[in-house]
Amino acid sequence: MENLLLKVENVDVFYGDAQALWEVTFNVEQHKITALLGANGAGKSTLLHAISGVIRPSRGRILYSESLLVGLRPEKITAMGISHVPEGRRLFSSLTVLENLELGAYLPSVRPLTKESLERVFGLFPVLKNRIHQSSGTLSGGEQQMLAIGRALMARPNLLLLDEPSLGLAPIVVKLVFNTIRVLNQDGVTILLVEQNVRKTLELADYVFVLKTGVMTMDGRPDQLLTDPEFRQAFLGRIG
Ligand code: ATP
Repeated sequence: MENLLLKVENVDVFYGDAQALWEVTFNVEQHKITALLGANGAGKSTLLHAISGVIRPSRGRILYSESLLVGLRPEKITAMGISHVPEGRRLFSSLTVLENLELGAYLPSVRPLTKESLERVFGLFPVLKNRIHQSSGTLSGGEQQMLAIGRALMARPNLLLLDEPSLGLAPIVVKLVFNTIRVLNQDGVTILLVEQNVRKTLELADYVFVLKTGVMTMDGRPDQLLTDPEFRQAFLGRIG
């Protein structure tokens, strides 16, 4: 792979005495959609948290455009161009849509761009514009996911980390979320996507890594994985 934006090398993560990631190595190529697949508890969220600085690996290196991330605070990592949309959205439910979005632009480097960023988010998700003064706790699940992605975009990321954005959403909303990911990518945003929706992920991603109980076990382009018997047995058996 050429043009690597993110390099994760031999990363170990522990929660207390329990090891969650074992010598994890993988890359994210600039301007591409890279996906991470794996069962519940495989360590996908842990890996995203290690990249965004919420969890500190005990071993290994994480390089973003040749800068070392391990040990930097999450705010610094966001300021460098990495935004994380966590699983479960983590919105401020008593705040309005607009207030949540404005909080996404709190960094001094992007605050002056707030108006333009809001227009971009409303262009992607017009429904949010109609609900601008509504508290985010009253939104539907799909609207909350759109708001969570919109809030991350307010920080003007080069690299967007998305943790299970389709979880619990109706099929039509899943389609909208996946289409939006494609549009953002065409706009120049590099995507690292964690998903359980294997079929849709294989349609969308340029390259896929597979985590199994904290170990990176497989990787390839979707067309390569689709012809790999081990991958098919692990993932396609279940989706019919
Ligand atoms: P899911 O799809 O369920 O979110 P995941 O692949 O994202 O799964 P992680 O949430 O990263 O997996 O969990 C990896 C392992 O680390 C699991 O064994 C989990 O129980 C453990 N783990 C995750 N968060 C914590 C925590 N805060 N404290 C202790 N153990 C944790």
